[in-house]
Amino acid sequence: MSEETPKCPSCGSSDHVVLVNASQKIGTAIGGAAGGAVGYYSTSAGATAGGIIGSVIPVVGTGIGVLTGGLAGAVAGFFAGSAVGNQIGEHIDRHIICEWRCNLCGTEFDK
Ligand SMILES: [Zn+2]
Repeated sequence: MSEETPKCPSCGSSDHVVLVNASQKIGTAIGGAAGGAVGYYSTSAGATAGGIIGSVIPVVGTGIGVLTGGLAGAVAGFFAGSAVGNQIGEHIDRHIICEWRCNLCGTEFDK
């Protein structure tokens, strides 16, 4: 996975050593939630664009377009937020916490 995986102090091998990515998972969840919320509350642009496109078919099309635009904004925000949160979390795990675990013998150690 990474070229900078440290060796397990017990086994002396890096083959089974993985980064303990707790912050990465938390970051992904928080980022996704925040991104979804931001996307949901800032969907006026998407909703407006959807409404304009949908208004080719008056009334019904406008309503569907606004709903679709709003939903797309929330979904896009969720994925964008997840990606950002995931990267921030991984950065914290890799460069600040630096906690590793060997899956072969179960040893946990700091880099
Ligand atoms: Zn080990």
